Parts: sequence; structure tokens; C-alpha cells
Amino acid sequence: MPKPLKWIPDELASLEREGLVRRRRLVTSLPAGRCVIDGRELINFASNDYLDLAHDPRVIAAAQRALAESGVGATASALISGRSKWHVALEEALARFERQPAAVLFPSGFAANMGTICTLAGKDDVIFSDRLNHASLIDGCRLTGAQVQIYRHDDLGGLKDELEKCCSGDSGTRRRLIVTDSVFSMDGDLAPLEELCDLADRFEAILIVDEAHATGVFGPGGRGVAELLGVEHRVAIRVGTLSKGVGALGGFVAGPQALIDWLWNRARPQIFSTALPPAVCAAAAEAVRIIETEPQRRQQLLDMSTQLRRRITDAEIETVPHAVGPIVPVIVHTPERAIQIARQLEDAGFLVAAIRPPTVPQGTSRLRISLSSGHEPADIDRLASALAVALKS
Ligand code: PMP
Repeated sequence: MPKPLKWIPDELASLEREGLVRRRRLVTSLPAGRCVIDGRELINFASNDYLDLAHDPRVIAAAQRALAESGVGATASALISGRSKWHVALEEALARFERQPAAVLFPSGFAANMGTICTLAGKDDVIFSDRLNHASLIDGCRLTGAQVQIYRHDDLGGLKDELEKCCSGDSGTRRRLIVTDSVFSMDGDLAPLEELCDLADRFEAILIVDEAHATGVFGPGGRGVAELLGVEHRVAIRVGTLSKGVGALGGFVAGPQALIDWLWNRARPQIFSTALPPAVCAAAAEAVRIIETEPQRRQQLLDMSTQLRRRITDAEIETVPHAVGPIVPVIVHTPERAIQIARQLEDAGFLVAAIRPPTVPQGTSRLRISLSSGHEPADIDRLASALAVALKS
């Protein structure tokens, strides 16, 4: 280890002592919510492939066509020479899907959140951010240099008070942003978007909503929580990812032409990163088409989510109140317990993620169960039974 880096092993040892070191696994994902680890097939409850599209033969065929025609890498950023017909087709598919005039792509959902926020605020502005927002929103806020006000999760009263303070006196002229996940990634609950729209209107703030875990999953058309709650036209900016319900990779914003032109001109991760691989764009466009035409996938997913939540409630297992949809947390409080239960579940044939600080606040370590439409109701029953056994140990 070079001398200037000698502190790193000490830091790692301290993470190890606190049960917080991250171990990496070699996982081969399979269709129908399965995977293979160490030669054993497990039912995978630790993936965000909510609609089982990553292995869909039509999606794979679309990727293969693009791969054969256009090669692997995009070879440059979109504004230089990396924007192929596959990128254009995906932009158009997303704009159509989201019922917006235009869309712009990013290398990832993380980059989309960070890049978008940074085009909207600077050091003289103020951003209001839910305490449980995803790291990409948090880092985006930090990078702007703006004053960042963290409000308690879903605390609309607290947010209103802070907005009122910010709008009084000389501060009234600062640009205001409110940023929130629409589905909180570790809790699985939904942001109160209607009330946030009311506050954004009243205090003339720009509301930015990250629909990462909602695209394809929520709303009659699969467009997310804003659609579900009937506020799509009221949310100023909605950011999406292609890596979860869409089963591919990348981030996007769909919106009015001027907003999209602004992001083309100002969003740095989009301007300065190589464009997505053409095959990924082709796969994502086909997955979006399937999301539009096969609503039964999200219905099955939501039905199984209800089934699991019912089992969890009946067994008096601690979870997050008000959570809905495919992210089902089971709170076990300590990192050690989370790891122990995850191991027991793995022995029983289920892969479930143990989530510990700093991903979640201290004292709230948990198992994060995520469902896929590829699972069967029998898988859910077996998991619920194994979970009840493991938690009694
Ligand atoms: N937003 C949320 C709420 C997320 O959970 C994630 C991924 N964990 C992202 C954004 C980032 O998306 P991506 O994986 O596409 O970078």
C-alpha cells in the first residue's frame, strides 16, 4: 500500500468491526426472478428488475440487432458523435411513453439526478430535500453549492415552515427547489406528491421528482407515482431510470422542449460522458414498448406485493407503515441481525439484501425484499414462511 494510503486498511478494519463492510458476490441473474450464487439457484428478492424485462427474449433480440449493426460502445458523447439512431429511437419512445414533447438520456439514473439538479440551482439558491432521498439527489444538491435544507421524511408542516422562512424578506428572490424520490428506495413508501405540488405552487418552487422505482410499476400507464396520484402536469421535472423497471441501464428526463434543450446544453454528466451503448438503447426502447402494452405485468407485481405485505402483517413482522408496491422492508435494527437473517434466508434458497448504515439511518438496518413480476405467488408464500422462521431464531 503506498504510504499516503496507509489509513485505508485501518478504516476498513473499523468498518469490519461495526459490521458495515460491504462484501461483493458473484451473481448470475436468470429470468423469472431467479439467480445463481456459488452454483446454487436462488429466488432473487434483491434485484430491481421489477417487470422481469432484463431477460425478456424480445428485449434481448432488440439488443442483439443493435449490437450486430452498431457495435458495442457509442464511442463518444451524444453531442459529439455518440447519438445513433438507437438513441434517437429511445428518446422518442420515452417522450411518447411519458406524453411529453422530448426526452434526453443520461449514462445512469444517478447521473440524471445529479446532472439535472445542477442545471437548476447555484450558490445563491435554496434546495429543500427529504431526509430519505437517494444519494444521487443528495449529491446533486451538494454539488450545486446552494443552501440545502433537509426536511424530515414526509414532514410537510416542517417543509412549509422552512419555505415560509425562505420566502420572507430579502431571501424571497432566491430560486427554490424541492427534491424528492417518488418511491423511497429503502422504505418503499410514496412521497405525498399532491401536497408537495401545492407547496411548490404556493412558494413558487421547482418540484423535482425522481421516479426511479416507479417507472413501469405505478400508475395505470406505468408512468409512475405522479401518474398514479394524478399530478403529472403539476410536477415541474420528473427524472427516470432505465435500470430498474425497464431492466436496462441509463437515466432520462422527458419534458417540454425548452427544458430538454436546457439539459442538452447544461447537464454535465450528459455532455461529458460517453453516450449509452446502442444495444442498451435498443433494449430499453423495446422494454418501454412492453411496459406500454403489457399492463398485466405491473398488476401481477402489485398483487404479489399485497400478498407479501399481508403475510408480514399477519406474522406481526416489523416493516415500514404505508409502504406499497414491490419494495418490502423488514426492519431488524442492527447490521449484525440484518446479515444473520439474510444468511439464513440464503440457506433457505432466497437472496435478500441486508441494508445497513449509511444507506439507511442508524438503528434501522433492514432486509430489503424486492419483488419481480417474474416471481410466482408460491415463491412469495415460501419466502414469507422462511422469513417468519428466521426472525424467530
Ligand atoms: N434514484 C433512486 C431512488 C435509486 O434507488 C437509484 C438506484 N439505486 C438511482 C436513482 C440511480 O439509478 P441508476 O442505478 O440508474 O444509476
